[in-house]
Amino acid sequence: MADVALLILIFVSLGVGVLLGRYEKYRRSSTESADSLSSEYFVGLNYLLNEQTDEAIESFIRALEVNGDTVETFVVLGRLFRQRGQLDKAIQAHQDILARPSLTREQMLDVQLELAKDYVTAGLFDRAEALLEDIVRQSWRGWRESFNTLLFVYETEKDWKKCVLLVGRLKGQASDDYSFRLSHYYCELAEMAIDHSDVLGARKYLKLAGHGHRSNVRVSLLLGRLEMAAGNFRDAIRALEKIAEQDKRYISESIPQLEESYSHIRSARGLTSYLGRCLRDAPSSAVIMASARLVALQQGDKEAGRFVAEQIVKRPSLKGLNALIDLHLQMAEGRAKQNLAMLRGLTGRLENSKPVHRCEQCGFEGKELHWSCPKCHEWGTIKPIMGLEGE
Ligand SMILES: [Zn+2]
Repeated sequence: MADVALLILIFVSLGVGVLLGRYEKYRRSSTESADSLSSEYFVGLNYLLNEQTDEAIESFIRALEVNGDTVETFVVLGRLFRQRGQLDKAIQAHQDILARPSLTREQMLDVQLELAKDYVTAGLFDRAEALLEDIVRQSWRGWRESFNTLLFVYETEKDWKKCVLLVGRLKGQASDDYSFRLSHYYCELAEMAIDHSDVLGARKYLKLAGHGHRSNVRVSLLLGRLEMAAGNFRDAIRALEKIAEQDKRYISESIPQLEESYSHIRSARGLTSYLGRCLRDAPSSAVIMASARLVALQQGDKEAGRFVAEQIVKRPSLKGLNALIDLHLQMAEGRAKQNLAMLRGLTGRLENSKPVHRCEQCGFEGKELHWSCPKCHEWGTIKPIMGLEGE
């Protein structure tokens, strides 16, 4: 569809060109170029009407080649080549325009940005970087787009230090606009430090990440992980419980770490109290199941089964149903156990077939929690799915 829309755009702009050409011809009683443009235009139009888009493009290119004043149209044509995956042609078209001596400064920057995008699409990141680093230093109308494209290149290369440096150059409102991303870049650096057992480095980056954006739950999750690895379970609990104040949707992500930390400090009361607050303010399957495990430990499986049944009446969910069947399976015998096991097999398969996380921006779904959406590349937009089939 994008191809057709762009072709129509080219068609209209060429049409204007033809009319202007005819007008010029009439005015100056001359030039073969208007004739040539006119005939190629109608050949291209004919191809377009017959849905022969490749031939239409070729014809339009020939029409454009004889008209020196169509920089913008040529830029659009290059973009069309890129969208069609004809990257050699896109690069060639944009490089040809750059060779023209008559370009204005803004036209030159526009074409450089387009060429950089061709390089990005072709995976030629070094060339894209060199072009973009030059044009983001200048003040012009496409600055924001070139900045975002360069950031995308750094993100794809996972060069988080370059991301931090680039965003660090921003001032005022622009700096605020990118503070959440910056916080995630520091989280990426903290994760790398944790993986290399660099505790001091990880602490430094997490402090910067938390300072940059206080509601970033990823900071709390990573701090919890770091404190647990260092054996500081009370500090881990403090960090993880902060998530309930930052974004309740992510509480489920912290439950396994919280259960482990509370078990290390042998404080079932502390965990009961926290889960009770979550059950009241932000109930989810993870919270219900963790509470049921506590009830089972303290009062036995039968009582835990009663608790889960009560909860799934109030808040039906597939995960809750599976937890309930599991509890009954432990207590059942003979034929009843066999039937329950068969049912559990089916509901288990149903649960496994469902995505766990969804991007609020573009709808991307998956099992894993990505902090940067693989589809729309936004940060922090993927969240646990709530409701019947989710949390
Ligand atoms: Zn997305």
